Amino acid sequence: MLLRCNSVSPMPETITRPVSAQSDANTDPKAPLAGDSRASLPAGALHSQLDKIAIFLDVDGTLLDLAPTPLEVRVPPGLADALAALQSRLDGAIAFISGRPIAEIDRIFHPLRLAAVGGHGAEIRIQPGAEIKRSRIATLDSDLRNEFAQIVQLDPGILVEDKGFSIAIHYRLSPQFGGEVLNHVATICRHERCDSLEVLPGKFVVEIKPSGYDKGTGLREMMSVPAFAGRKPIFIGDDVTDDAAFSVLPDFGGIGFSVGGIVPGATFNFDGPQDVRLWLERLGLERLGLETPGLETPGLERLGLEDFGNVAEGA
Ligand SMILES: [Mg+2]
Repeated sequence: MLLRCNSVSPMPETITRPVSAQSDANTDPKAPLAGDSRASLPAGALHSQLDKIAIFLDVDGTLLDLAPTPLEVRVPPGLADALAALQSRLDGAIAFISGRPIAEIDRIFHPLRLAAVGGHGAEIRIQPGAEIKRSRIATLDSDLRNEFAQIVQLDPGILVEDKGFSIAIHYRLSPQFGGEVLNHVATICRHERCDSLEVLPGKFVVEIKPSGYDKGTGLREMMSVPAFAGRKPIFIGDDVTDDAAFSVLPDFGGIGFSVGGIVPGATFNFDGPQDVRLWLERLGLERLGLETPGLETPGLERLGLEDFGNVAEGA
């Protein structure tokens, strides 16, 4: 869900993805539910096609378990190695797509660096050693920043993160204040200074950013880079801020995997970040064998991944 800043209405409850939206893409009663995801992991079908696919990964809630505050996330042992292995096997066609600044992503995964889209598309680094391009940044009005910053006064558990190109207001530590946070954002956003801003409600966070770019524009831009061009993108994301990326995948013959609930635009769902990590680890293995259970794909046809494989085969 993406809203024009000045169209935000006061909302009485903590924002989560609506239940109806979670189930929209899963109308087939035989389709795997969230609890079946591990048995239907498609890594086996894709393992032989790593030269034809590109992988885009949201970070928080997708690769990493959410933490009480953004600074407290941690990279589980083995994840950086698995991503590095995939980076090699995909010839560099793997990238983070996050709302975090790229410098922060680098700090979290240090010493690993991948190509990356940061700040919901405000930044892009087309390969690990390249410079970070920030041409899309529009500076937020300083008075406006101050007004949003005042929302912390609602409760000590509310955190305001000024990312430079956007402001994120986190209420994970005080979820009962979610409605009030959104009400305050809505009140501020009635001002005409907000005409060119967008509000991105997420999991216990609401982010205010300039309009004109998002994770979808970032993915699209990355797909024009030589390492990614001509491949079929796979995007994995968990939150409403990822919808923009899911929506551009058909333009490239790609597919989306959601985390925590099937959503529009996603053809497959992981139960949680631990399942994503396991899948990536297995996908990055040099060889798959009987010792790597869970790679067979009993639900492949229903999920449409077989078609994806055929398309990739002919690409
Ligand atoms: Mg996320």
